[in-house]
Amino acid sequence: MTDPRLRAGLLQIYEDLAQDLTRLAPVCDLSGRCCRFKEYGHRLYISRTEAELLLQDGLPADATVNEDGCPFQKGQLCTAREKRPFGCRVYFCDPKYAGQAEILSEKYLAQLRELHRETGTPWDYGELHVFLQEAASRAALGESSEVIPPPQ
Ligand code: SF4
Repeated sequence: MTDPRLRAGLLQIYEDLAQDLTRLAPVCDLSGRCCRFKEYGHRLYISRTEAELLLQDGLPADATVNEDGCPFQKGQLCTAREKRPFGCRVYFCDPKYAGQAEILSEKYLAQLRELHRETGTPWDYGELHVFLQEAASRAALGESSEVIPPPQ
């Protein structure tokens, strides 16, 4: 991520979300279901900026990249916890939390879009596997598997 304002703003959004989640206190039972997209009928959408952060150190070794799940999941756990995208952070199965993810998503995705506008960064939003496949293709060519920012 070339613009430090973008990185700092994204990390601040993650921090602010964490504070909201502390207040709401949804329970995670570590089932790992949220990361097995096909099995549980999920789709995970992220911004290119988040993909850049997630893939800062590249894909996991021998990663299988497809629509079925996330290659950062090992067992039931996320191996990219510090860099995981917003959609991973906001999602909980806890029935007492029902409806909250939508409210928080509306609030923070608006902020993320505004951050892109302020920094002159194109808004590019899509399914996780699209960004991961892009990175895997680059890695297969012997290039860095980091996500490349779009031209300004
Ligand atoms: S980044 Fe982590 S939390 Fe998000 S889908 Fe992948 S394994 Fe799950």
